[in-house]
Amino acid sequence: MPERIPRQPFEGCIATYAEANVVIIGAGFDGTSSYRPGSRFAPQALRAEALYSQENYSPYFQQDLTDFKIHDWGDLDLPFGEKHRALAAIQQQIRQLFTDGKKPAVIGGEHLISLPVIEEAQRIYPNLVVVQLDAHLDLMDELFGERLSHGTVMRRVVEVLGTGERLYQVAIRSGSREEFAFARKHTQLYPFTTREFLKHLPALKDTPIYLSVDLDVFDPSLIPGTGTPEAGGIFFPEFMEVLKALLSHQVIALDMVELSPKIDPTGNSTIHAAKIFREMLMMLAID
Ligand code: MN
Ligand code: MN
Repeated sequence: MPERIPRQPFEGCIATYAEANVVIIGAGFDGTSSYRPGSRFAPQALRAEALYSQENYSPYFQQDLTDFKIHDWGDLDLPFGEKHRALAAIQQQIRQLFTDGKKPAVIGGEHLISLPVIEEAQRIYPNLVVVQLDAHLDLMDELFGERLSHGTVMRRVVEVLGTGERLYQVAIRSGSREEFAFARKHTQLYPFTTREFLKHLPALKDTPIYLSVDLDVFDPSLIPGTGTPEAGGIFFPEFMEVLKALLSHQVIALDMVELSPKIDPTGNSTIHAAKIFREMLMMLAID
């Protein structure tokens, strides 16, 4: 099995592995980051900020993290220069979580780490829908000649799903002309805001959903600590509307990616990300 780095658990996530239904796992790989790397530091930074900066209680969901059976597995010990081996290690461990009946909550790392997680989710849920909150389409076929990159990850996800019909790209505001042409033709594109997506969401009532949150979907004034920030993002209240809407849906796993803590020396990005992750965990844990 892949090597594990044990960590102080995410604050409030105190269940044992055996009793947990949600399992946190850190996959801090950032080997293909095209602009500013550093998301490898996100899982550990997130836990440290969560410990001191926030309550376990969410006034939004009126629940406490300790009300749920959430286990923090720690971080995968990934070979940073070896993306194929890193992705294989992530995939192997995620397969184990699904085999054990757990709902994975993955902390990146860059967005490429979503690919092996979604591959495993798709094996179990053949009609899986992927909901991607992101500033970027991530639909390039190649980036710097590489087919596996955080800029190509959703193109590979389309291949994994066998269709773009089940890929929802929400609050997108950046991509090449070719990527937008591809999205308009093949994927479910909801640019700039979450509003139109929320209107459509009831149609996914009985469909298993994978939620992938690229933190650059948020406005860079909120989260400047990300590799490729983009002007004009969403804010926390709009994000919470999405999470609340997802409560009545069957979300089977999720990830939060592209936090690069050291880029934001104020620490605010990590503090905000910890709160965002707390609410994501709660949404996932509430049946
Ligand atoms: Mn992305
Ligand atoms: Mn992005």
